[in-house]
Amino acid sequence: MEREQNTPRRGITIDTKILNACVQCGLCKTVCPTYNVEYDEAYSPRGRILLAKSVVEGKLELTPEVAKRWDECTLCRNCENICPNGVEYKELLVHVRERVNEDLKKDWLKYLGLKPLTFQGNKLQKLALKAGAVISKLFIGNRDTIPVVFPTGAVKYFPKPKLNAQSLRGKKFLPNTERRGTFIFFPGCMYENFYTQTAENVVRILQKLGYEVIVPDGVSCCGGPHYYSGFLDMFEQLREKNTEVFQKLAEKYEIDGLVVVCPTGGGTFKEDYDLPFPVYELVEILDRELPELRSGIKEKITIHYPCHAYTAMKLDVSVFDRVAKKDKDAELVKGELNKSCCGFAGMFSVKNPTLSQKILSRKMEDFKNSGAQKILTSCPGCVLQLNEGTIRYAKDLEVEHIADFVAKRFLSEEERKVLSQLWEEV
Ligand code: SF4
Ligand code: SF4
Repeated sequence: MEREQNTPRRGITIDTKILNACVQCGLCKTVCPTYNVEYDEAYSPRGRILLAKSVVEGKLELTPEVAKRWDECTLCRNCENICPNGVEYKELLVHVRERVNEDLKKDWLKYLGLKPLTFQGNKLQKLALKAGAVISKLFIGNRDTIPVVFPTGAVKYFPKPKLNAQSLRGKKFLPNTERRGTFIFFPGCMYENFYTQTAENVVRILQKLGYEVIVPDGVSCCGGPHYYSGFLDMFEQLREKNTEVFQKLAEKYEIDGLVVVCPTGGGTFKEDYDLPFPVYELVEILDRELPELRSGIKEKITIHYPCHAYTAMKLDVSVFDRVAKKDKDAELVKGELNKSCCGFAGMFSVKNPTLSQKILSRKMEDFKNSGAQKILTSCPGCVLQLNEGTIRYAKDLEVEHIADFVAKRFLSEEERKVLSQLWEEV
């Protein structure tokens, strides 16, 4: 259907159908992480939509102050998820941000943060990561994270780059049992460069479940962070490049689906690509196929449901519970904010450190109140942010990726070594 566009007086063009769909009921405020720490209408979805409408209608000048209100949104999309009128909030914010980049002031900090992701898979980048791994080992030894200070005042605890960064690429891992199908695994930037152990565990779990696992070479970042930041040209380039690789693999192999452990990437592939196979979050496969486990570890676990798993990938979050409860020795406990943004949202936490920390500390307080000892999740950004949350606010809590949790219980030591060696070139 052709969408009605307005021609505003002050350089902002947005689909008026999206703007007019909002009836200002305010229900979205109940789930908005920024509103629920600031309690100010300008930090609410409704307020951000009203600002866009006022600018579009020429009642309000597009100024850096107005743009800041939109920049302070995590784009978790909880508002969109709950909205009874189906307001397409993501599309609204993406296009608002695009116009701000083009007509007001390019967001250079975000641009410089996101541009390197377009080089993902590049040989020089791989060398730089290896050099970074050696240097960080020299300076901080075996510690897992490096505190990085940004000009905005943000201090983020980043995982170290790894010597085996991007080493899964271009390989087809073989199952060690009867073959049940073939998946493409798209690890994504964070797992390929930093959380390499988790990426390897995903491959090994799928191998043991009987799947061939292709990790493609030639792909870059999914482009989700670029899209969400309004850099649509960069997104388009990434989509084209990645789609070409996926198409070629689909012509050569019988592919059962694309597996991700990054719900932002998964949501981007589902919503903004047109792929010839379905997209799965790993937990969907584990829910179906992982047997019951007995770890012998009596611990209380809770789950941080990554927002884009249910708002973008449209998963029912109970799938995470069922996978966690495969370990019959663990006890699953819940707080009140399990389904609430952690405040990472990529460059959001770098650009808005105070707001991000308010969201994070509220979340960590809730986890502590739940009585949990461990938080499971399935998103590299959430792992990074929640780890920071344990350093700052909850030293007794531990964060674990759900793939690592499952790997420790499902794979033997021997299988971890052997399965990694079962592969051939794609
Ligand atoms: S976005 Fe939806 S939930 Fe929020 S105020 Fe508008 S109509 Fe209500
Ligand atoms: S996307 Fe998230 S942070 Fe942004 S307005 Fe909606 S609920 Fe609030």
